[in-house]
Amino acid sequence: MKCRFIKKRLSAYLDGELPEEEGKRISDHLKFCPRCAAEVQELQGVWDLLGTWERVEPTPFLWEKVRKRVAEKPSPVPFWEGLIDRYVVPAAVTAVLIVGLVIGIHFGNRLYSTAFESRVLESPEVEFVNVLGLGTLDDIPEGSLGETLLALTQTNQQ
Ligand SMILES: [Zn+2]
Repeated sequence: MKCRFIKKRLSAYLDGELPEEEGKRISDHLKFCPRCAAEVQELQGVWDLLGTWERVEPTPFLWEKVRKRVAEKPSPVPFWEGLIDRYVVPAAVTAVLIVGLVIGIHFGNRLYSTAFESRVLESPEVEFVNVLGLGTLDDIPEGSLGETLLALTQTNQQ
């Protein structure tokens, strides 16, 4: 058996986990190999030391204290998450509304002023035709339905 293989099996050997025959071959090797023997002694020392350690059981008082603390503490909400809910979302909604209002006012004013400026004061008949949007019928050929309609609206005005 090679030392490298023995070293890999030493822990199992010390725990008595190896089959009887393999354990015997290792103990035979340890009798004439000082390096492996030193290794097994060192490992045994660590094993012995670990064996002296006692498992420390927490007192019932400590367990109760820990259990209480865990139950008392609400799951913490990150600081920034609260800020987002409380301030950022309403601020964003308000900003969108304000921008929408400003854009609406701007375009409304432009539309209104353009319509107002282009308006020329005309006779009440023409105003009425313009209001109904019949001004576009002016260029309609004679004898058409549009002309008849235009004539009718003008007749009613008089
Ligand atoms: Zn060896």
